[in-house]
Amino acid sequence: MPQQKKKPNGVTAAPLANWMLETNEVTRLFLAANQIPDLINIAGGLPDPSTFLDKEISEISARMIRKHPKQTMGYGPIEGLPALRDCIAKRYSKGSLQLTSENVLITTSGMQGLDLIGKVLLDPGDLIAGQFPTYLGALDAWRPRQPRYRNMDVHGADFDAVTEMQGAKFAYTVPNFSNPTGQLVKVSRRKELANGTLKTGTWLLEDDPYNTLNYDSPLPPSVIEILAEKLPEETYSGTCLYLGTVSKQLAPGLRLGWVIASKEMIRSLTLAKQGSDMCTSGITQLITLEALKSGLIEKLQPQVVDLYRRRRDVLCASMKEYLSDWFDWKTPEGGMFVWAKARDKRLDTDRLLMFAMEEKVCISPSSVFDAQGEHRSAIRLNFTLNCEDKLIQAIRRLARATKRLVDEG
Ligand code: PMP
Repeated sequence: MPQQKKKPNGVTAAPLANWMLETNEVTRLFLAANQIPDLINIAGGLPDPSTFLDKEISEISARMIRKHPKQTMGYGPIEGLPALRDCIAKRYSKGSLQLTSENVLITTSGMQGLDLIGKVLLDPGDLIAGQFPTYLGALDAWRPRQPRYRNMDVHGADFDAVTEMQGAKFAYTVPNFSNPTGQLVKVSRRKELANGTLKTGTWLLEDDPYNTLNYDSPLPPSVIEILAEKLPEETYSGTCLYLGTVSKQLAPGLRLGWVIASKEMIRSLTLAKQGSDMCTSGITQLITLEALKSGLIEKLQPQVVDLYRRRRDVLCASMKEYLSDWFDWKTPEGGMFVWAKARDKRLDTDRLLMFAMEEKVCISPSSVFDAQGEHRSAIRLNFTLNCEDKLIQAIRRLARATKRLVDEG
């Protein structure tokens, strides 16, 4: 990216901030892929639009605007509407995890939660203990602070959270069907993470957008629940911050998320949100509240789970038929992605993306999930957006692209 731009009158524009030099060109390429005719996009983390409940949500939306014109159309409290904060506090209060609305901040999407946490916690150059490969959006959110990263190997045989979290400003984990690997963090490792944040005092971010996309077996308890069992206070006051969103439960276009944390942390995040967007849209807050109260999310979940489970199975069967000479993968138990690792570590998946685009299929190469962009021998494939026939076609095209790359050497 050029650091200086000439304006039409010949005057040199002010240079961009340094962090802008570190953005990833590959990301831009695959985000633009939807504009290419006939291309099958299995790169993004997109839900199938047929699951969006447009009729129900437009009915709720019209009703909420009629009933609450000030709340839907006006500015609201920075922390979010009290009724929605309260509803989320009650929804997550379970066993030792007891929450009040003061433990909840409503955010304009899960991404904003990540951004605000970065604003509140990171000084330039601070260390983050991350579960790599990691969510691209989190790397993007924190990039302006130019943090350093250390891998926190939650799946590793000798995982010791105290050692791995020590000295970091915060640790970041997606325990349920992580993006990009689709892996689930085991109960023993969740306990270890809770122990790590308790012993070191290092903040722990538990990012949990995929918990409703669970296809095979019941979920283990969340890390924040496990941590709460170890705390003496009645109302939650721990160092784990939990992030939720309706993006995968209802619709990403609502841009509605939440952070659950100690009251003190919620107050700090509220200050950061004030300088970000002042408040989250009232209409999407009331739609979410109504969807939660009326059980719409629970009603939708079984259909979505069935649809996506079938698509996951079709994708994996098709990968077995066409890609198994070159890649290894595990069938994910939930989420939206299959993470396939090249058997030959010399297979460069940034280059594979170029060949794949020529064959009209778009995939995510592993480099975008790595803070340094160096991991180049795996791919992330999405199975939620496209119908079964398209998924099979996509894998056939990807097999052609892989063969061409391998043959070219
Ligand atoms: N965290 C992770 C791990 C994600 O994969 C996503 C969505 N792709 C988000 C957070 C944020 O979702 P949203 O901003 O749509 O709420």
